[in-house]
Amino acid sequence: MRISLQAELGDFQDRHTIYVFALKMSFLAVTLSSVVILLILPPLDFMGVLPVPLADGVVYGVVLSWLIGGTVSSVLSLVAGHAMHQLSVSRAEFEQLSRTDVLSGLLNRRAFTEALEQADGDACLAIFDVDRFKAINDRFGHACGDAVIVAVSAILAAAFDGRSVAARLGGEEFGAIVVGGSQEQRIERVQSVCARLAGQPIAADNCVVAITVSAGIADLGGGRGKAGAYSAADKALYLAKALGRNRVVHENEGLHPGWRRHLPQDAAAARAMSADCDEARLA
Ligand code: GH3
Ligand code: MG
Ligand code: MG
Repeated sequence: MRISLQAELGDFQDRHTIYVFALKMSFLAVTLSSVVILLILPPLDFMGVLPVPLADGVVYGVVLSWLIGGTVSSVLSLVAGHAMHQLSVSRAEFEQLSRTDVLSGLLNRRAFTEALEQADGDACLAIFDVDRFKAINDRFGHACGDAVIVAVSAILAAAFDGRSVAARLGGEEFGAIVVGGSQEQRIERVQSVCARLAGQPIAADNCVVAITVSAGIADLGGGRGKAGAYSAADKALYLAKALGRNRVVHENEGLHPGWRRHLPQDAAAARAMSADCDEARLA
Protein backbone atom coordinates (compact mmCIF):
# COMPACT_ATOMS: atom_id res chain seq x y z
CA MET A 1 0.00 0.00 0.00
CA ARG A 2 2.81 2.39 0.93
CA ILE A 3 4.55 1.61 -2.36
CA SER A 4 1.42 2.24 -4.40
CA LEU A 5 0.99 5.55 -2.57
CA GLN A 6 4.57 6.47 -3.38
CA ALA A 7 3.83 5.97 -7.05
CA GLU A 8 2.06 9.35 -6.88
CA LEU A 9 4.04 11.49 -9.30
CA GLY A 10 4.47 14.26 -6.77
CA ASP A 11 6.68 11.99 -4.66
CA PHE A 12 9.23 11.61 -7.45
CA GLN A 13 10.62 15.12 -7.48
CA ASP A 14 13.98 14.09 -5.98
CA ARG A 15 16.33 11.25 -6.86
CA HIS A 16 16.54 9.87 -3.34
CA THR A 17 12.86 8.88 -3.59
CA ILE A 18 13.60 6.96 -6.81
CA TYR A 19 16.32 4.86 -5.15
CA VAL A 20 14.12 4.11 -2.15
CA PHE A 21 11.29 3.19 -4.54
CA ALA A 22 13.60 0.85 -6.55
CA LEU A 23 14.91 -0.78 -3.36
CA LYS A 24 11.43 -1.37 -2.00
CA MET A 25 10.09 -2.73 -5.30
CA SER A 26 13.00 -5.16 -5.79
CA PHE A 27 12.78 -6.30 -2.15
CA LEU A 28 9.06 -6.92 -2.62
CA ALA A 29 9.64 -8.80 -5.91
CA VAL A 30 12.37 -11.01 -4.44
CA THR A 31 10.40 -11.74 -1.28
CA LEU A 32 7.36 -12.73 -3.35
CA SER A 33 9.43 -14.99 -5.64
CA SER A 34 11.04 -16.65 -2.59
CA VAL A 35 7.60 -17.33 -1.13
CA VAL A 36 6.43 -18.80 -4.46
CA ILE A 37 9.53 -21.06 -4.58
CA LEU A 38 8.89 -22.22 -1.03
CA LEU A 39 5.29 -23.06 -1.93
CA ILE A 40 6.02 -24.80 -5.26
CA LEU A 41 9.09 -26.94 -4.44
CA PRO A 42 7.52 -29.28 -1.80
CA PRO A 43 4.72 -30.50 -4.18
CA LEU A 44 7.32 -30.97 -6.97
CA ASP A 45 9.52 -32.92 -4.55
CA PHE A 46 6.46 -34.98 -3.50
CA MET A 47 5.77 -35.82 -7.19
CA GLY A 48 9.44 -36.81 -7.60
CA VAL A 49 10.16 -34.35 -10.42
CA LEU A 50 12.69 -32.31 -8.45
CA PRO A 51 16.20 -33.12 -9.83
CA VAL A 52 17.88 -32.18 -6.51
CA PRO A 53 17.04 -32.74 -2.84
CA LEU A 54 14.30 -30.41 -1.54
CA ALA A 55 16.67 -28.52 0.85
CA ASP A 56 19.16 -27.89 -1.98
CA GLY A 57 16.32 -26.87 -4.32
CA VAL A 58 15.06 -24.33 -1.79
CA VAL A 59 18.55 -22.88 -1.26
CA TYR A 60 19.27 -22.66 -5.03
CA GLY A 61 15.83 -21.20 -5.73
CA VAL A 62 16.01 -18.53 -3.04
CA VAL A 63 19.63 -17.58 -3.83
CA LEU A 64 18.88 -17.35 -7.58
CA SER A 65 15.74 -15.33 -6.98
CA TRP A 66 17.74 -12.89 -4.85
CA LEU A 67 20.60 -12.66 -7.36
CA ILE A 68 18.75 -12.66 -10.69
CA GLY A 69 15.31 -11.47 -9.60
CA GLY A 70 16.80 -8.79 -7.34
CA THR A 71 19.02 -7.43 -10.13
CA VAL A 72 16.31 -7.45 -12.79
CA SER A 73 13.63 -5.91 -10.59
CA SER A 74 16.09 -3.26 -9.29
CA VAL A 75 16.98 -2.20 -12.82
CA LEU A 76 13.33 -2.17 -13.93
CA SER A 77 12.29 -0.19 -10.85
CA LEU A 78 15.10 2.34 -11.42
CA VAL A 79 14.00 2.79 -15.04
CA ALA A 80 10.36 3.19 -13.99
CA GLY A 81 11.39 5.56 -11.19
CA HIS A 82 13.40 7.75 -13.56
CA ALA A 83 10.49 7.87 -16.01
CA MET A 84 8.18 8.96 -13.19
CA HIS A 85 10.79 11.52 -12.09
CA GLN A 86 10.82 13.03 -15.60
CA LEU A 87 7.02 13.10 -15.65
CA SER A 88 6.95 14.69 -12.23
CA VAL A 89 9.43 17.42 -13.25
CA SER A 90 7.53 18.08 -16.51
CA ARG A 91 4.27 18.31 -14.60
CA ALA A 92 5.77 20.79 -12.11
CA GLU A 93 7.16 22.90 -14.99
CA PHE A 94 3.83 22.80 -16.83
CA GLU A 95 2.00 23.75 -13.63
CA GLN A 96 4.41 26.69 -13.15
CA LEU A 97 3.98 27.80 -16.79
CA SER A 98 0.21 27.57 -16.63
CA ARG A 99 0.22 29.97 -13.66
CA THR A 100 2.75 32.48 -15.00
CA ASP A 101 2.31 35.40 -17.38
CA VAL A 102 4.95 34.92 -20.08
CA LEU A 103 5.77 38.60 -20.70
CA SER A 104 5.96 39.87 -17.14
CA GLY A 105 6.80 36.76 -15.14
CA LEU A 106 4.02 37.70 -12.70
CA LEU A 107 1.19 35.34 -11.82
CA ASN A 108 -1.46 35.24 -14.55
CA ARG A 109 -5.19 35.80 -14.13
CA ARG A 110 -5.86 32.10 -13.45
CA ALA A 111 -3.32 31.95 -10.61
CA PHE A 112 -4.51 35.31 -9.29
CA THR A 113 -8.11 34.07 -9.16
CA GLU A 114 -6.92 31.06 -7.13
CA ALA A 115 -4.96 33.32 -4.77
CA LEU A 116 -8.01 35.55 -4.41
CA GLU A 117 -10.12 32.56 -3.36
CA GLN A 118 -7.67 31.91 -0.51
CA ALA A 119 -7.49 35.55 0.64
CA ASP A 120 -9.56 36.73 3.56
CA GLY A 121 -9.57 39.05 6.56
CA ASP A 122 -7.11 41.93 6.68
CA ALA A 123 -6.69 42.25 2.91
CA CYS A 124 -7.89 44.24 -0.05
CA LEU A 125 -8.03 43.70 -3.78
CA ALA A 126 -6.51 46.39 -6.00
CA ILE A 127 -6.86 46.52 -9.79
CA PHE A 128 -4.32 48.73 -11.59
CA ASP A 129 -4.58 49.98 -15.16
CA VAL A 130 -1.94 52.00 -16.99
CA ASP A 131 -3.53 55.21 -18.27
CA ARG A 132 -3.68 55.89 -22.00
CA PHE A 133 -1.54 52.87 -22.73
CA LYS A 134 -2.72 52.72 -26.31
CA ALA A 135 -1.05 56.11 -26.88
CA ILE A 136 2.28 54.63 -25.73
CA ASN A 137 1.94 51.80 -28.24
CA ASP A 138 0.90 54.20 -30.98
CA ARG A 139 3.71 56.63 -30.33
CA PHE A 140 6.63 54.43 -29.33
CA GLY A 141 5.67 51.05 -30.77
CA HIS A 142 4.45 47.77 -29.37
CA ALA A 143 7.91 46.70 -28.17
CA CYS A 144 8.16 49.83 -26.04
CA GLY A 145 4.66 49.11 -24.70
CA ASP A 146 5.82 45.62 -23.77
CA ALA A 147 8.87 47.08 -22.00
CA VAL A 148 6.57 49.36 -20.00
CA ILE A 149 4.47 46.35 -18.97
CA VAL A 150 7.63 44.54 -17.82
CA ALA A 151 8.85 47.57 -15.84
CA VAL A 152 5.47 48.11 -14.18
CA SER A 153 5.36 44.40 -13.33
CA ALA A 154 8.77 44.55 -11.63
CA ILE A 155 7.68 47.47 -9.46
CA LEU A 156 4.40 45.76 -8.52
CA ALA A 157 6.20 42.47 -7.75
CA ALA A 158 8.62 44.29 -5.44
CA ALA A 159 5.85 46.28 -3.78
CA PHE A 160 3.54 43.34 -3.16
CA ASP A 161 5.66 40.43 -2.00
CA GLY A 162 5.51 38.22 1.08
CA ARG A 163 1.88 37.70 2.05
CA SER A 164 0.71 40.11 -0.63
CA VAL A 165 0.68 39.09 -4.27
CA ALA A 166 0.71 40.84 -7.65
CA ALA A 167 -0.45 39.50 -11.02
CA ARG A 168 -0.94 40.60 -14.59
CA LEU A 169 -4.61 40.24 -15.43
CA GLY A 170 -4.15 40.98 -19.13
CA GLY A 171 -2.95 43.81 -21.37
CA GLU A 172 -1.88 46.75 -19.17
CA GLU A 173 -4.11 45.67 -16.29
CA PHE A 174 -2.69 44.28 -13.05
CA GLY A 175 -4.14 42.95 -9.82
CA ALA A 176 -2.80 42.88 -6.29
CA ILE A 177 -4.00 41.24 -3.11
CA VAL A 178 -2.69 43.56 -0.42
CA VAL A 179 -2.46 41.76 2.90
CA GLY A 180 -1.81 43.15 6.36
CA GLY A 181 -2.16 46.48 8.17
CA SER A 182 -5.27 48.60 8.53
CA GLN A 183 -7.61 49.49 5.69
CA GLU A 184 -6.05 52.97 5.52
CA GLN A 185 -2.52 51.54 5.41
CA ARG A 186 -3.42 49.19 2.58
CA ILE A 187 -4.92 52.07 0.58
CA GLU A 188 -1.76 54.11 1.21
CA ARG A 189 0.38 51.21 -0.03
CA VAL A 190 -1.56 51.18 -3.28
CA GLN A 191 -1.37 54.96 -3.57
CA SER A 192 2.36 54.99 -2.94
CA VAL A 193 2.95 52.36 -5.66
CA CYS A 194 0.91 54.42 -8.14
CA ALA A 195 2.86 57.55 -7.17
CA ARG A 196 6.14 55.67 -7.63
CA LEU A 197 5.08 54.43 -11.06
CA ALA A 198 4.10 57.94 -12.11
CA GLY A 199 7.07 59.65 -10.51
CA GLN A 200 9.83 58.02 -12.52
CA PRO A 201 9.86 57.77 -16.34
CA ILE A 202 10.40 54.24 -17.56
CA ALA A 203 13.47 53.62 -19.68
CA ALA A 204 12.62 50.99 -22.27
CA ASP A 205 14.57 49.63 -25.23
CA ASN A 206 14.50 52.72 -27.41
CA CYS A 207 12.29 55.09 -25.50
CA VAL A 208 11.88 56.82 -22.18
CA VAL A 209 8.24 57.15 -21.30
CA ALA A 210 6.40 58.63 -18.35
CA ILE A 211 3.24 56.88 -17.30
CA THR A 212 0.40 57.29 -14.86
CA VAL A 213 -1.69 54.52 -13.38
CA SER A 214 -5.24 54.36 -12.05
CA ALA A 215 -6.37 51.84 -9.45
CA GLY A 216 -9.60 50.64 -7.88
CA ILE A 217 -9.69 49.03 -4.44
CA ALA A 218 -12.22 46.76 -2.75
CA ASP A 219 -11.96 45.23 0.72
CA LEU A 220 -11.82 41.45 1.08
CA GLY A 221 -13.45 39.50 3.86
CA GLY A 222 -16.65 40.45 5.61
CA GLY A 223 -18.58 37.54 4.12
CA ARG A 224 -18.76 39.02 0.62
CA GLY A 225 -17.96 36.69 -2.27
CA LYS A 226 -14.78 37.16 -4.29
CA ALA A 227 -16.76 37.90 -7.45
CA GLY A 228 -18.49 40.75 -5.59
CA ALA A 229 -15.16 42.15 -4.39
CA TYR A 230 -13.73 41.93 -7.90
CA SER A 231 -16.70 43.73 -9.38
CA ALA A 232 -16.46 46.45 -6.69
CA ALA A 233 -12.74 46.99 -7.39
CA ASP A 234 -13.45 47.11 -11.12
CA LYS A 235 -16.17 49.73 -10.59
CA ALA A 236 -13.79 51.77 -8.41
CA LEU A 237 -11.19 51.61 -11.20
CA TYR A 238 -13.80 52.76 -13.69
CA LEU A 239 -14.57 55.68 -11.37
CA ALA A 240 -10.84 56.51 -11.12
CA LYS A 241 -10.70 56.68 -14.92
CA ALA A 242 -13.86 58.77 -15.10
CA LEU A 243 -12.55 61.17 -12.47
CA GLY A 244 -9.57 61.96 -14.70
CA ARG A 245 -7.19 58.99 -14.23
CA ASN A 246 -3.89 59.00 -12.31
CA ARG A 247 -5.66 58.28 -9.03
CA VAL A 248 -6.68 55.56 -6.61
CA VAL A 249 -10.34 55.10 -5.73
CA HIS A 250 -11.62 52.89 -2.92
CA GLU A 251 -15.00 51.24 -3.46
CA ASN A 252 -16.53 53.28 -0.60
CA GLU A 253 -15.58 56.51 -2.32
CA GLY A 254 -18.09 55.75 -5.04
CA LEU A 255 -20.85 55.33 -2.46
CA HIS A 256 -19.98 58.27 -0.22
CA PRO A 257 -18.12 61.08 -1.96
CA GLY A 258 -15.69 62.59 0.51
CA TRP A 259 -15.51 59.35 2.51
CA ARG A 260 -11.77 59.76 2.38
CA ARG A 261 -9.85 62.74 1.10
CA HIS A 262 -7.88 62.27 -2.09
CA LEU A 263 -4.21 62.15 -1.27
CA PRO A 264 -2.33 65.20 -2.54
CA GLN A 265 -1.13 64.29 -6.01
CA ASP A 266 2.58 63.87 -6.40
CA ALA A 267 3.96 66.59 -8.69
CA ALA A 268 5.35 64.08 -11.16
CA ALA A 269 2.26 61.92 -10.94
CA ALA A 270 0.06 64.88 -11.74
CA ARG A 271 1.38 65.17 -15.25
CA ALA A 272 -1.23 64.27 -17.79
CA MET A 273 -0.43 61.45 -20.16
CA SER A 274 -0.66 63.69 -23.20
CA ALA A 275 1.95 66.00 -21.70
CA ASP A 276 4.07 62.97 -20.82
CA CYS A 277 4.10 61.84 -24.42
CA ASP A 278 5.37 65.24 -25.46
CA GLU A 279 8.07 65.17 -22.81
CA ALA A 280 9.14 61.62 -23.55
CA ARG A 281 12.10 61.39 -25.82
CA LEU A 282 13.37 58.75 -28.15
CA ALA A 283 16.72 57.45 -27.04
P1 GH3 B 1 -7.33 53.90 -20.38
O1 GH3 B 1 -6.62 55.04 -19.75
O2 GH3 B 1 -8.80 54.14 -20.46
O3 GH3 B 1 -7.02 52.60 -19.72
O4 GH3 B 1 -6.85 53.83 -21.89
P2 GH3 B 1 -5.88 52.75 -22.52
O5 GH3 B 1 -5.37 53.31 -23.81
O6 GH3 B 1 -4.82 52.38 -21.52
O7 GH3 B 1 -6.81 51.53 -22.69
P3 GH3 B 1 -7.30 50.80 -24.02
O8 GH3 B 1 -8.11 49.64 -23.51
O9 GH3 B 1 -7.98 51.75 -24.93
O10 GH3 B 1 -6.00 50.28 -24.72
C1 GH3 B 1 -5.19 49.30 -24.17
C2 GH3 B 1 -4.17 48.93 -25.22
O11 GH3 B 1 -3.24 48.00 -24.68
C3 GH3 B 1 -4.79 48.32 -26.44
C4 GH3 B 1 -3.91 47.09 -26.73
O12 GH3 B 1 -3.46 47.13 -28.05
C5 GH3 B 1 -2.75 47.27 -25.79
N1 GH3 B 1 -2.20 46.02 -25.31
C6 GH3 B 1 -2.87 44.95 -24.78
N2 GH3 B 1 -2.01 43.98 -24.45
C7 GH3 B 1 -0.77 44.42 -24.78
C8 GH3 B 1 0.54 43.85 -24.69
O13 GH3 B 1 0.75 42.72 -24.21
N3 GH3 B 1 1.58 44.60 -25.12
C9 GH3 B 1 1.41 45.84 -25.67
N4 GH3 B 1 2.48 46.53 -26.06
N5 GH3 B 1 0.18 46.40 -25.77
C10 GH3 B 1 -0.88 45.70 -25.35
MG1 MG C 1 -5.30 51.45 -19.70
MG1 MG D 1 -7.05 48.27 -19.68
